[in-house]
This record gives sequence, C-alpha cells and structure tokens, in this order.
Amino acid sequence: MLITGVELAALRVPIGAEQLISTRRITSRETCLVRIHTDEGIVGIGDSQRPESAEAICSYIRDIYVPLLLGRDPFDRERIFHEAYTTARYRGRVKGVAIEALSAVEIALWDVIGKALRVPIYKLLGGKYRDRLRAYATAVMLGPSQEERLRQFGRFLDAGFTAVKVKAGRNVEEDAEFLRRLREAYGYGVDILVDLNCALTFKAALRFGRAAEKYEVYWIEEPLPPEHLGDYAKLRRALSVMVAAGESEYTVYGFRDWLARGAIDVAQPDVGRAGGIWQVRAIAEMAEAYGIWFAPHTGHGSAIGYAATLHVAAATRNFLIFELEQIENPLREGLLANRVDLQEGGHIAVPEGPGLGIELDEKFVERATIARFK
Ligand SMILES: [Mg+2]
Repeated sequence: MLITGVELAALRVPIGAEQLISTRRITSRETCLVRIHTDEGIVGIGDSQRPESAEAICSYIRDIYVPLLLGRDPFDRERIFHEAYTTARYRGRVKGVAIEALSAVEIALWDVIGKALRVPIYKLLGGKYRDRLRAYATAVMLGPSQEERLRQFGRFLDAGFTAVKVKAGRNVEEDAEFLRRLREAYGYGVDILVDLNCALTFKAALRFGRAAEKYEVYWIEEPLPPEHLGDYAKLRRALSVMVAAGESEYTVYGFRDWLARGAIDVAQPDVGRAGGIWQVRAIAEMAEAYGIWFAPHTGHGSAIGYAATLHVAAATRNFLIFELEQIENPLREGLLANRVDLQEGGHIAVPEGPGLGIELDEKFVERATIARFK
C-alpha cells in the first residue's frame, strides 16, 4: 500500500460564550484536519491538539511532511515519523507547531493501518486493559461568581461524574476558599482536581498546595510554568498532594527530563501534541518505569484526538483517569457521525471500529473549513 495524497483542511468554529482560564480567553476552536489517501482506497484521519493557528499546522505539514509521505507505505509509520522528526529537529523545532503537526500525521497513519488490518488501534497497541475508562469533567472555568461556579460543579455531579476539574490560579486565597466551599457543599466523596495552567510562583504554589492537602484535592495540575522543572521537583517533594503536568511538553525527550528530575506524580502528554500515538505510549511506558501515573491530556481537543487518546489509554497499564471536556467545543461534539465523547456514570467507552473507529460528519467539516491546503 502506498500513500497517494495528503488532504489538509483548517477548521475553525466559534463558540457561544468566551471561556476563561488563568492565562487566556478562548473564543473559538480550531484544528488542522489531515486525511492520508492510499492507492488501496483507504483514508486515514488525524489532527493535532492545537486550539489556535490551525492554518500554521496545515501549512507546516504541506511544506515539510507531505514530501516525506508521498509514495511511502503507511506501515513504515515509525520510520516515517523519525525521518520527519529529524527534519524538524534540523530546524530546531523539537516542540510546538512542528511536533503538533507531526502528531496529526502520525495519528492518520495509525488510522490507515488499523483500517487496512480491520482492527481497532488498541489491539495494535497490545490489547486493552479496560472497556470503559473512569473520566473526570473538565472544567469549572474561571470568570463566573463562586456561587455560580459551585452550581456548575454540582451539575457535573448530577450528570454522573465522580471527579471534577476546577480551574484556578488567579488568586491563591480565593482558590483555597473555593475548595473549602466545595467540600462544605458536596462533601469528601468526590474527587476534586485543580488546574492552575502554569499561573503560580513556587511560593504561591506551596501555599496553594497546603490548602489542596487540607481539602484532599486529587491532584494539582500545572501549578508552575513548564520551564521551571527544578521548582516542580521541590514542590513535589514538599507536598503530599499529587502534582500533574505534561500538556505543555513534547516527545519522549521532553518527558524524560520531567521524570528523571522527579518533577511529577502524573504525566499528562497529549496524543495530538506530544508526537502522536506511539510517542505518548512510549512516554506512558517510561512513566511506568518511574512508578508515575499516566493521565492523558485532551482538553480543547477534537473528537479525533479523543478517539486516538481512548485507544492509547485503554491499552496502557498505568492509565489513571481520562479528561472529558464538558464545556462547549463544537469540534468535540459535532465533528463525527459517531460521537466518542459521551460519558455514562462517570465513565467513557473505547471505540470499537477499525483504526480510530470514527467517521467524519462531512457536512460539519464542510461548514467548519476556513482554508484548504494543496
Ligand atoms: Mg490543564
């Protein structure tokens, strides 16, 4: 089988109400949709986890990766990946857009292979450990009053979740007070995850971490900027609450440093960002060797990213819990003819079809396309 073409489309869909985290405002969802065509008529789908600048991803793939793909056998996936990685590295791009773009290509290659062999990707990863994954709701966002945020938390519990993420990081004292009010309102039978989105200094993170311990928080996520690995390691040693991070990191080389320095309890690579399915599987295995949990990042991802992540999570031993976004995201809710992002009783099911086990809603794709890349 040979690759005969790579079809690229930048998709953008506005959202109804702006979404606020500690570091930025979100007003639309974007992705670069990759379709790899083959001479056997099989088409593989992938995309990257890049909620902005979809056109930058598409043009990078067209200019740098497509020449490496045409005429190749998709089953040479790993070799193609490393040729592409080496090309990007030569330009100093071992993180960011280059690796996000490569992630999209890599996922599409897996989809081709799974479809050609007529098996779900999780089987190609060694088989699944679980049919359903425990999921947490992402997230109670910043912005509304604490009263409204408390009610939002309750709505996630009513929907069936037993674990909920709360955004924080703009004011440590208010964040600690919110934790007290959450426990007062909902007790200690629910897992509370707190995401700081890299907003704190070491001292502030230590102060917040003490409050997180007092209110028995499940994990604190990205308390510090990812550049400060030494502070992460110090913070982790100082606190009993788990420290999670990884959505801002790329490839096994990036994660090697986090693990070797003892910076995290939970590794959160994103399949559509950190290098694709095989890189994230390797990151999870490396984490396992350090006794560290794997809880893949998916927030803001499209349904394609969700499907890819579900296959990896199902087939990986040290998987801990699955991130399931509950706020508006048309690319998660509308992109597929068969939704993969639905939960029941706080759990999410693993897709069963060949490859990723998904099918695009072509009408949605048509409406969301802002540019095609030839
Ligand atoms: Mg996060």
